[in-house]
Amino acid sequence: MALLHHYSTPLARAVRPPPPTRVRPYSTTIALASAKPSSTRPSQSQQQPQVLLGLSEKELQDLALNLGQQSFRGKQLYHLIYKRKVKEIQDFIQLPKAFRNDLEESGWKVGRSPIYQTVTAADGTVKLLLKLEDNRLIETVGIPVEDDGSSVRLTACVSSQVGCPLRCSFCATGKGGFARNLRRHEIVEQVLAIEEVFNRRVTNVVFMGMGEPMLNLKAVLEAHHCLNKDVQIGQRMMTISTVGVPNTIKKLASHKLQSTLAVSLHAPNQKLRESIVPSAKAYPLSALMRDCREYVRETNRRISFEYALLAGINDSVDHAVELAELLHEWGHGYHVNLIPFNPIEGSEYRRPYRKAVQAFADALESSKITVSVRQTRGLDANAACGQLRNSFQKTPLVTDPDHLESELPNTDLAVTC
Ligand code: SF4
Repeated sequence: MALLHHYSTPLARAVRPPPPTRVRPYSTTIALASAKPSSTRPSQSQQQPQVLLGLSEKELQDLALNLGQQSFRGKQLYHLIYKRKVKEIQDFIQLPKAFRNDLEESGWKVGRSPIYQTVTAADGTVKLLLKLEDNRLIETVGIPVEDDGSSVRLTACVSSQVGCPLRCSFCATGKGGFARNLRRHEIVEQVLAIEEVFNRRVTNVVFMGMGEPMLNLKAVLEAHHCLNKDVQIGQRMMTISTVGVPNTIKKLASHKLQSTLAVSLHAPNQKLRESIVPSAKAYPLSALMRDCREYVRETNRRISFEYALLAGINDSVDHAVELAELLHEWGHGYHVNLIPFNPIEGSEYRRPYRKAVQAFADALESSKITVSVRQTRGLDANAACGQLRNSFQKTPLVTDPDHLESELPNTDLAVTC
């Protein structure tokens, strides 16, 4: 999900806390790799570097024990990774040199990537490019917002994939192609990088950067868990967004997260939606709305519907009336977040006039739909999702079909995209 489409200043305030819901523990099981690499031929996942970032305190204690240390060394590791945010094993100077060497010789890394590029907009929004182990670049954005002059929020907009296979017609990320899913630590480290650059804590996380989070749901849930438990960001301070991937909203609902689900609609009917979001062909609007209704029933959480306003395409008052009818048909209490299109290079779409945005919002409100309009942030910093990465990584990304398919809950969609 692109930041362009989803980040909204008033969104956090607009979403009321729901009645208390019992949070079921995550079903995620983190298999600790053995302390010493196996001598047998490694599987694909074992070939990936073993990273400390993303492990729980208990898992780090187990690791310390496996390496012949006492378990308190694991607690120290936890403190160094999540509180002190140390990036290299040899910089864990509180730990014995022998333990540090053992960790490295066993193939462990902290799991922090270098910041390759930083761009700062006049409004304080900072966009970072992180260079991953395989030299791929991903974007992450830090957005500082003053709340009524008293407190300051710092939102991290994180990517969940390197590129995106869904190719929404207005999105720079979609135009840049898709390479692979991000691993858990590669999502978590984006938040730590934002904290490093701003030198303060991130308060909110939105999974709205490069990629479709629901196509990498396992890693997204693991990262969400780590950000909540280990980086200590409240679940209600996080938002997971989707343009809609069959069979995943139900799966997400079963985790009963206290976070917000943002669903990108961008059109009030199937025909128009397919022209803007090609992957909608595999997931009809009626099926998406049915899943949203079930999600609300199951979780007691409201859904925010994201709607990118494209001048002359989907921004008329008639479209607003049709959208209100659609939402009333499938439930109540929905919120709509309007996102005036942020122009990207090579796009045929235009930004709507302010008057058109206001008329659209008024039409929704008069139909008793709560609405917010996203403030444009960092327009001068290649702020549309994917723009900065595309300007540095010109070579088209190559899709690894095996990798993609293994993560897709619905292979029809892989074909479509
Ligand atoms: S192409 Fe991918 S990243 Fe871009 S808006 Fe669509 S789902 Fe989001």
